[in-house]
Amino acid sequence: MRNVIIIGSGPAGLTAAIYTARANLSPLLIEGWQSGGQLTTTTEVENYPGFAEGVMGPELMKAMRGQAERFGTEFLTGDVTAVDLKQRPFTITVDAEQTVQAKTVIIATGASAIQIGLPNEKRLTGHGVSTCATCDGFFFRGKELIVVGGGDSALEEANFLTRFATKVSIVHRRDKLRASRIMQDRAMKNEKISFMWNSIVEDILGTDVVSGILLKNVVTGKTFELPCSGVFVAIGHRPNTGLFAGQLEMDEKGYLKTYHGTATSLPGVFAAGDVQDSTYRQAITAAGSGCMAAIDAERFLEAGEG
Ligand code: NAP
Repeated sequence: MRNVIIIGSGPAGLTAAIYTARANLSPLLIEGWQSGGQLTTTTEVENYPGFAEGVMGPELMKAMRGQAERFGTEFLTGDVTAVDLKQRPFTITVDAEQTVQAKTVIIATGASAIQIGLPNEKRLTGHGVSTCATCDGFFFRGKELIVVGGGDSALEEANFLTRFATKVSIVHRRDKLRASRIMQDRAMKNEKISFMWNSIVEDILGTDVVSGILLKNVVTGKTFELPCSGVFVAIGHRPNTGLFAGQLEMDEKGYLKTYHGTATSLPGVFAAGDVQDSTYRQAITAAGSGCMAAIDAERFLEAGEG
């Protein structure tokens, strides 16, 4: 029986691990098969305090994991397939075969990339369709690419992809970007980037690999084909909360509800990071709430409530 089990290995989960390990709570952190969270699919992180020259996302996560390990965090690699939070001790099933139990649970399962929802998008994923420029950009040297979306992610991906691609067209459904001013300025200045405004992707074309997209201008109603070798979808994220349906309170978008810090609707269960934050969604805010969750769990145990 564990004092605390942390689910998730992004900045929130690892910060919770560092704090609970240093509080002698011997945490067990369950990291999925794709560990490290969203920052492992990012290039340079320029806004994480303490790194004046910026830091690569995967490098930052490796350092956080090392720090958590140094203080005695135990890691279990596997995907959580079921949770029973209705009775204490809480029971967590990993890869449908192993179960672990704890007095408190910190949920830091983050969020995942949203897809457009086209059948050919699914079929061609890994064959030209991607949600991760850092992972796949390298394969598109000398090619023409499409990025879908108008937020910071889309512009960041587009900028990164110009390292490899000859041309990157950003397809956005409106005529105004959602992205921050600094990212907009950077993208506008990049000669390899162009914008397809008021446009939506109606289909992704290609037999074995992507050969183009079918675009629709939502103002004129006209459709046309645009050849390209890759489509990078960057239209936001959805919280990874499917496991907790029916057990924890969520908002209308599926984010876990938290009260007085990181407490969820069940005593002894805490939530940190993007899984409970639809507003800020930054690595630093995730790390901050991971710290809060650790302190909340520690106080809960100290009060003898576990
Ligand atoms: P986001 O801000 O939610 O933007 C999503 C974009 O995709 C919006 O432009 C949206 O269009 C568009 N979109 C949504 N659903 C769509 C659909 N079905 N079809 C076509 N387009 C669709 O998400 P994000 O860009 O991933 O950013 C998330 C958060 O992370 C933000 O707070 C952002 O500031 C932060 N972030 C920061 C950095 C950085 O500082 N370097 C980098 C990446 C992300 P509408 O605009 O019309 O809604």
